[in-house]
Amino acid sequence: MSNRIKKIDSLLREYYGVPKRSEVPQDPLDVLIGTILTQNTNDNNSWKAYNNLRNTYKTWDEVRLANTSELKEVIKIAGLPRQKAEAIKGVLDDLHSRKGRLDLEHAREMGDEELLKELTSYKGVGLKTASCVLLFSLHRNICPVDTHVNRTAKRLGLTESNQPEKTFFALLGNIPEGLAHSFHSNLILLGREFCRPAAPDCPHCPLLDVCNSSDKNMHDGGKKYPYSGFLLIDKL
Ligand code: SF4
Repeated sequence: MSNRIKKIDSLLREYYGVPKRSEVPQDPLDVLIGTILTQNTNDNNSWKAYNNLRNTYKTWDEVRLANTSELKEVIKIAGLPRQKAEAIKGVLDDLHSRKGRLDLEHAREMGDEELLKELTSYKGVGLKTASCVLLFSLHRNICPVDTHVNRTAKRLGLTESNQPEKTFFALLGNIPEGLAHSFHSNLILLGREFCRPAAPDCPHCPLLDVCNSSDKNMHDGGKKYPYSGFLLIDKL
């Protein structure tokens, strides 16, 4: 599987380029909270919600102690305000009660497996959110799997599962060293631009020659979506 991932990554890099990474290392707790805000919304709205949050409260402790109704108002542009406000306060409360402080600096010293286990043990933190912390903040060679990554990986024969968690573990350990960030980011762009859930635009897809999917749609892909390389978590 590693060779196939390498080939796919190389074709995606040819088409989209190497995704930019934040030059300043991102704080792991910032990435964790930012990732909660990205759930079920687009990057522009989650980016606005994240900025509202950081401009309204000076510290994560202020967020932890904030009134839930007020917090919902601050982040509502990201959608699902009640669930997200409760998830954010839940993880901050849990972290505070276990560690007595609000940071994840200790994560830098932990191994991938141990860290995934710890992060997913916090209230409201799933595997995708935890793996985003490892990839985007700590630059580990880990590929978070969302619906776009799962769908494209399945069509490309990298997994048989429709469940992102199963696909995550199928890919784990098979991503050639140093490729996880570009592979993950470019696969999301591919999933948005070409490999859409319905009517994928296969005739124009940069992976057409290496894709054996039975879901291929060789008719005109229909509505075209403008290319956007904006991925929120790299901008926190
Ligand atoms: S050829 Fe079609 S099915 Fe295969 S990856 Fe590209 S868009 Fe998806």
